[in-house]
Amino acid sequence: MRILVLGAGFGGLELSTKLSAELGGDADIVLIDQSDGFVFGFSKLDVMFGKTLPDAVFHPYGDIDKPGLRFVRTTIRSIDPEALRVETDSGVFDADIMVIALGADLDPSATPGLVESGHEFYTVPGAFALREVLSDFAGGHVVVGVTSTPFKCPPAPSETALLMHDYLTRRGIREDSSISLVMPLGSPIPPSPAASEALLVAFADRDIAWHPDRLVESLDPQRKVVVFGDGSEMPYDLFLGVPRHLVPSVVADAGLTVDGWVPVDPHNLETAFPNVYAVGDVTSVGTPKAGVFAEGQASVVAEQIVRRVRGGPEPATYDGHGICYLEFGHDLVARVDVTFLSGQAPVGALDGPSQAIAADKIDFGTSRIRRWFDRTWVGG
Ligand SMILES: Cc1cc2nc3c(=O)[nH]c(=O)nc-3n(C[C@H](O)[C@H](O)[C@H](O)COP(=O)(O)OP(=O)(O)OC[C@H]3O[C@@H](n4cnc5c(N)ncnc54)[C@H](O)[C@@H]3O)c2cc1C
Repeated sequence: MRILVLGAGFGGLELSTKLSAELGGDADIVLIDQSDGFVFGFSKLDVMFGKTLPDAVFHPYGDIDKPGLRFVRTTIRSIDPEALRVETDSGVFDADIMVIALGADLDPSATPGLVESGHEFYTVPGAFALREVLSDFAGGHVVVGVTSTPFKCPPAPSETALLMHDYLTRRGIREDSSISLVMPLGSPIPPSPAASEALLVAFADRDIAWHPDRLVESLDPQRKVVVFGDGSEMPYDLFLGVPRHLVPSVVADAGLTVDGWVPVDPHNLETAFPNVYAVGDVTSVGTPKAGVFAEGQASVVAEQIVRRVRGGPEPATYDGHGICYLEFGHDLVARVDVTFLSGQAPVGALDGPSQAIAADKIDFGTSRIRRWFDRTWVGG
């Protein structure tokens, strides 16, 4: 059985690891990614706020060495979901089963003024470059804002505002600065009223101004103001933005999308094309765009594929469950345990924040690196 896994992010790594563990040499698994290595989303914040260095959070794909699994570093140029074939810079690959785990692309240039006079903290280069930008910042009005919906890891802008407070305090320039968090949502984490309430209290305690229901439309570099979708404006000295998200063009060109993302059966992650699955941020499955959900979906697809090779009972369907860690600053982390089931309102419970959960979060990262790359990572 030839299995093509497109994209070695959270979803693709989990899927190919599980398939290798279950099928070993009985399958021919090819994992394709255009990058040299993997970086956790949360590591971007760690680097940007000076907690660690870029090299310490970069996990090279060259380290992957698992039975039945071959990693190919190349760019996918076209996908034919009917013929189960992809064209890449390294030639053509054919499959019996294909899984699309290509994530969401980010386009900072889609927001006028963002590249010229603001910064984005969602791409690896953007977040890593901010390390220097922040260390040169002399104080002023910091605005954290979002330019499009849906966007990955909806708690990340709130975490950024809280970590910014700690960072400016540590540098002794908090009193010369103000922080505004502008979100396109009515509350910081809509599926969890308890987490939203705790965040609003934390913002108030730290004098972080919270502005709900506003989407950034553009930045005016001359006047140094952020312009929002409702026409209102806000001056800034330092703007940190979540850039526009969109499906990778190779996925759109393949005719796999409806309303911008890949629709899938929410129970088993099958696309409209036979033998083609999609997992993670590239889909419109109904969960937030976050690694934990990509991982859970990958696990369900792995079980489906293993059953097709080995037989056995029908595997469990996708349960929409995930645990999101939430940085509160002051070295404390909370946990939001949330389930998204189609047709039902999501339910999210809050635990913490505490130091014990901060330790759990480190374990979350290190355990994935052990499983996916067979190596020890100290985390953080
Ligand atoms: C600041 C920040 C903090 C975050 N914190 C968390 C967190 O704490 N917890 C959490 O669960 N999630 C978090 N996330 C979200 C998380 O990073 C993503 O949701 C997750 O990585 C999605 O997994 P995925 O497999 O769908 O896609 P990705 O991990 O994005 O992987 C997609 C892969 O496809 C590859 N690719 C794309 N196009 C091509 C092509 N044409 N050819 C070859 N390869 C290609 C890319 O190189 C990439 O490696 C955070 C994100 C950010 C930005």
